[in-house]
Amino acid sequence: MHEWHEQVAVVTGASRGIGRAAACHLAAKGAAVCVNYAARPDAAEAVVREIRNAGGRAIAIQADVADPDAVDRMIGRASAELGPVTILVNNAGVIAQATLETFDAQAYARMRRVNVDGLIHATRAVAPAMRERGFGRIVNVGSIAGIGTALPASTFYAATKAEVLILTRRFAFELGRHGITVNAVAPGVVRTDMTGGALRERGSETERRLAEKTMVGRVGEPQDVASAVVFLAAPEAGWITAQVLTVDGGRMDYIGHG
Ligand code: NAP
Repeated sequence: MHEWHEQVAVVTGASRGIGRAAACHLAAKGAAVCVNYAARPDAAEAVVREIRNAGGRAIAIQADVADPDAVDRMIGRASAELGPVTILVNNAGVIAQATLETFDAQAYARMRRVNVDGLIHATRAVAPAMRERGFGRIVNVGSIAGIGTALPASTFYAATKAEVLILTRRFAFELGRHGITVNAVAPGVVRTDMTGGALRERGSETERRLAEKTMVGRVGEPQDVASAVVFLAAPEAGWITAQVLTVDGGRMDYIGHG
């Protein structure tokens, strides 16, 4: 299991943004890729076409990661069509912005079901076959929100991402002896649909303000995070586990001098 062309990757939420970039980068390395999505088949099929046009192997599978049965069916189908899953990228995530005043229990529960429960369902779905083969790479997409940034109204989202980070370490502990590594990336602000309008317009005032908070002086692009995901998912990364790799251009606002 030490060659890229032997790898089969499932990337959740791969129809857009960071997941899309990770799926394309893994495929370019030689892995076969299952492009998971929730609601946008056209976007997912476009990713599959892009990978196939570049000579790679990919299929798109719809599954709401919050639904454990749907996740099990997806992993079953991906394994049947591409081969046993060796790489899982738990990327699917949503943000429900709220403050203490505007907190909405239902919106929070839904966000947790995707960001936290989804990661648990997908990890549980791939773990038995990975254990059997004595090999696996799991990369979770957290956020610097889970470490300490304080963007307005992201408090409850941050709580779900803190859970992602602790689950990463604990799953790494449970699975390490089976040759399975579990790591996380913690991205800073990345230009995707999630970060929305202000960043879509390049050079906006918001972008300039966010770029100024980084040591390298720019906001992130999906490929910046995908490179870190691929590094942690690589066959040769077998002695790196339980780590959180921050990918944020060197954000200074939560480590600075105040
Ligand atoms: P995005 O552009 O909004 O894309 C979200 C992706 O997740 C889409 O492919 C969407 O599928 C999928 N998705 C949403 N809910 C799902 C569900 N229940 N089941 C399966 N797939 C689902 O998001 P992004 O910015 O790339 O974010 C990706 C990850 O990075 C998230 O975990 C996010 O929290 C994290 N992150 C992002 C940033 C940032 O600045 N963008 C920073 C730190 C961390 P459809 O296309 O079908 O809707």
